[in-house]
Amino acid sequence: MKLKIAIDGPAGTGKSTVAKKIAEILEIDYLDTGAMYRAVAKFFLDNNIDPCEIDNNTVEKIFKEINFDFKNNSLYMNGKILSDEIRSPEVGKIVSKVASLEAIRKKLTLIQRELAKGKSIVVEGRDIGTVVLPDAEVKIFLTASAEERARRRLKELIEKGINVSFKEVFDEIVQRDRIDSTRKVAPLRAAKDAVIIDTDGLTVEEVVEKILEIVNKKIKKVEKQL
Ligand code: C5P
Repeated sequence: MKLKIAIDGPAGTGKSTVAKKIAEILEIDYLDTGAMYRAVAKFFLDNNIDPCEIDNNTVEKIFKEINFDFKNNSLYMNGKILSDEIRSPEVGKIVSKVASLEAIRKKLTLIQRELAKGKSIVVEGRDIGTVVLPDAEVKIFLTASAEERARRRLKELIEKGINVSFKEVFDEIVQRDRIDSTRKVAPLRAAKDAVIIDTDGLTVEEVVEKILEIVNKKIKKVEKQL
């Protein structure tokens, strides 16, 4: 049985940490789709492309120069492994604008489906349960208050040696949430059949445990039907 697990939710809900742990425990692949949007946003920054002034032709041209690869559970863009450079505040400031462009989403959605094809995988993002993998066997939507999410994000960034203030992180999260949930194409939203988990006050281990329970129930249900 191939098991696809979609984990969606706003920034800072601990999606990445939880998704990685689930994939590790189940010994299956893990794909971080936010990293792909971030890598494209970094490409915009590096090439002085303004996301507010872009048309479909330019997107076609850009994607001729961009090539994603997924090897040994790591994402590569143009042969280079995606590093912490894509987590910088500069990228954070424009990534949601880049991600709201329909042509960019279409391209990345196709690539993501291709990368997830024919295998068991945990895929993390904003529109995985709704758009990228609507047939995923398990769909989880993580939430938490904006304050809690900003605190977690700040801790993560500081651990990575990136120096920012709580206010900067909080403002960026609120701004990204607004753009991500109000965009026309594939807005941030829980799928109708997703299980919503409020992670406020829960440890990573507790969230992982809840998701594993849901996964195990699903596996048992499918096995019964076989
Ligand atoms: O997951 P992360 O916070 O790194 O994602 C960065 C940004 O990429 C999000 O704020 C969102 O704008 C965009 N994104 C998206 N769809 C996804 C994953 C990420 O629009 N599936």
